[in-house]
Amino acid sequence: MRPDAARDRNIQPARFEGPGARWRMPVAARPRFIQLETVTKCNAKCPFCPQNEIVRDPARMPEATWKKIVDDTRGWGVTYRPFLTNEPFVDNRMPQIVRYIKENDPTARVEFNTNGELLTEKLGAELLDAGVDIMRFSIDGFSRETYEPSRVGIDFDRVMSRVQRFLEMWDAGGHRDRVFTEVRMIEVPENAHEVTAYREFWGPRCSEVVITSLYQWPWTGQKPEDVVLKPCLKILDEMFFYTNGKATICCWDVHEKAVIGDVTTQSVQEIWEGYAARCLRALLDDGRRDLIHLCSRCNAYQDFDFGKFAVGSD
Ligand code: SF4
Repeated sequence: MRPDAARDRNIQPARFEGPGARWRMPVAARPRFIQLETVTKCNAKCPFCPQNEIVRDPARMPEATWKKIVDDTRGWGVTYRPFLTNEPFVDNRMPQIVRYIKENDPTARVEFNTNGELLTEKLGAELLDAGVDIMRFSIDGFSRETYEPSRVGIDFDRVMSRVQRFLEMWDAGGHRDRVFTEVRMIEVPENAHEVTAYREFWGPRCSEVVITSLYQWPWTGQKPEDVVLKPCLKILDEMFFYTNGKATICCWDVHEKAVIGDVTTQSVQEIWEGYAARCLRALLDDGRRDLIHLCSRCNAYQDFDFGKFAVGSD
């Protein structure tokens, strides 16, 4: 549903007791984290990820678009993530993009989440040289048997050798104090028996090992009656741009259900403060996910205690 249409509907679920926002969430004056979908593709076809449903045009973000987003936000202390639902290193412009972001902006940070398969030694050296700040490697298993069924299309041995080589270069090159590296695994029943060995292997080789649980994308089986009538943390200081320059409120918005503006015709600040963004935030501050098409089937933060943000709690 478009924000303006949502405003005109007068749905009052039984669980709501009165008018007005029930929470006051601390929205940042400017985005602190910006994700850029510089390409739509991925080298994997993971069964839990909707990336292969993306048919967006163009497949590659024009240089003028990503440069405008960076130029609009220079000096804001933004952490840029040059990827969205895609694998960042499908885009061979990454060293150039990192260099451009870091150029003349000591407040800018760049971080990557990657499956690691395309990270050649040459690319790794270029990224370190360009000033990358954080590298997160998603490696969901410690054996070919547990890894390859979840990361379909990726060669386990190639990932292991390339990630290890990058971390050797990071360590030997004196980058430990400047660049944070993380190796992370989503724990599922199939790989749970490998967690200890995983930690022991990767622990000494990187800054931190993280074991996480599997999350659920919106619209992947959630029922209308199970709607989570709570606010959302994701909209407070993050912004997400597609290859076509449109911005959305959420990194899980694969199909452009919650677009809030277009950076090819607006500034980033205008979009952040714009009517569409304010409308969606107001609905979420009132726990009205049911009125936002994207959020109406999302169970993110369902167990989070929003009590300290409740109106009248201070
Ligand atoms: S409620 Fe879910 S889909 Fe909506 S913005 Fe938050 S995380 Fe994204």
